[in-house]
Amino acid sequence: MTDAPRRPPLMPLDDALQRLLAQAVPLGMTEQVDTFDADGRVLAQDVVSALHVPPHDNSSMDGYAVRAADVAQAGVELPVTQRIAAGQSGQPLAPGSAARIFTGAPLPAGADAVVMQEDTEALEGGARVRFTAVPAPGQWVRAAGEDVTRGAVVLQKGERLAPAGMGLAAGIGLAQLCVAARPRVALFSTGDELVMPGAVPPEQMAPGAIYNSNRFFLRALLQRLGCDVTDLGIVPDNRAATLAALQSAAEAHDLILTSGGVSVGEEDHIKPAVEQLGSLDLWQIAMKPGKPFAYGHVNRATGGQAHFMGLPGNPVSSFVTFLLLVRPFVLKLMGATRLDVPAMTLRADFDLPRPDKRREFLRARRNAQGGLDVFANQSSGVLTSAHWADGLIDHPAGATIARGDAVRFIPLAELLS
Ligand code: AMP
Ligand code: MG
Repeated sequence: MTDAPRRPPLMPLDDALQRLLAQAVPLGMTEQVDTFDADGRVLAQDVVSALHVPPHDNSSMDGYAVRAADVAQAGVELPVTQRIAAGQSGQPLAPGSAARIFTGAPLPAGADAVVMQEDTEALEGGARVRFTAVPAPGQWVRAAGEDVTRGAVVLQKGERLAPAGMGLAAGIGLAQLCVAARPRVALFSTGDELVMPGAVPPEQMAPGAIYNSNRFFLRALLQRLGCDVTDLGIVPDNRAATLAALQSAAEAHDLILTSGGVSVGEEDHIKPAVEQLGSLDLWQIAMKPGKPFAYGHVNRATGGQAHFMGLPGNPVSSFVTFLLLVRPFVLKLMGATRLDVPAMTLRADFDLPRPDKRREFLRARRNAQGGLDVFANQSSGVLTSAHWADGLIDHPAGATIARGDAVRFIPLAELLS
């Protein structure tokens, strides 16, 4: 046995997340947006309905509105005294009569059921109708308020809007919604090896140079979350440039997000720069990929602080730490109430015989048999794994997987929304 140099233990992911969320005090700024533009935004107020939806009892079929008691047996005939199409309103229905009615039209007062036209025969050119089926009271009637009742909280403060919620808000007459303002996020990539696509063609890339891929997915991920992103591009690997970039980014932003430069090498300048300009509150998490993640604050010359989150440079590490740590943090800044990751239990259709000391997030994909396959190369530099995957397997530290085992699977779809 050799004595390994003692290092502080890595922080468990759940502890790190708890600490981060404790720091993510909602920003509290709100704005009114057009309901059309509210997709993905977080509601800043409860949305209460000022009316019933539907507003009136109405027909869910094309047919005839009747008093069910008037059609007690098949073969009954009634006079047709009115015609009511969607958008119209009829007259009270006299006993012993029927109203021709169409889907969505309000039921006339007195009627309590609709007989669909397939269960009728029109007589005398539509002046009378014979019923071939007997309606139960309430048949084919959509009751007023069956979707939404007046005074009901339809959407809750802290909810993140999605298309169905936008439709619901519109359905109660709201053309605008009060939502959390977009968090202002400054993004930069570090690394002297980085080249922007388009700047140099692939065949002319210098030895050691690579294209900057993190910048593209990180910007897109932030935008999907509803952030107002200032992309500061690539910052070189030296202390002065790193300090200058952090200092100016802190001024007009709520969060500074960086990629690369947070490991332990001499070319990793982010960590000491953040310590110099503010504080580094958290560094290194017991997760794979993503160990070098860092969190802290950068002081503003004008007072106050910006949050700082440093993601590892390896693309898959950057991607996974964004989804598991940055995403809930930013959602909380916006006042979102649902921060957890939706997970499900699925069957592993592969073996993972070697345990790891860290909790692992394996890039995996559901197969047609309802089980999970993993991408063969789980290296944190292989971004193809993240593109191939439709989810992450949350695999506990020290455990192995045998074919057929139940594992915890986090679908990417919701994490990417
Ligand atoms: P670092 O965390 O800076 O030590 O970087 C770790 C690895 O990720 C290195 O191989 C870097 O070249 C690579 N890397 C860093 N930043 C990026 C980036 N923006 N796009 C693609 N690869 C990167
Ligand atoms: Mg680097």
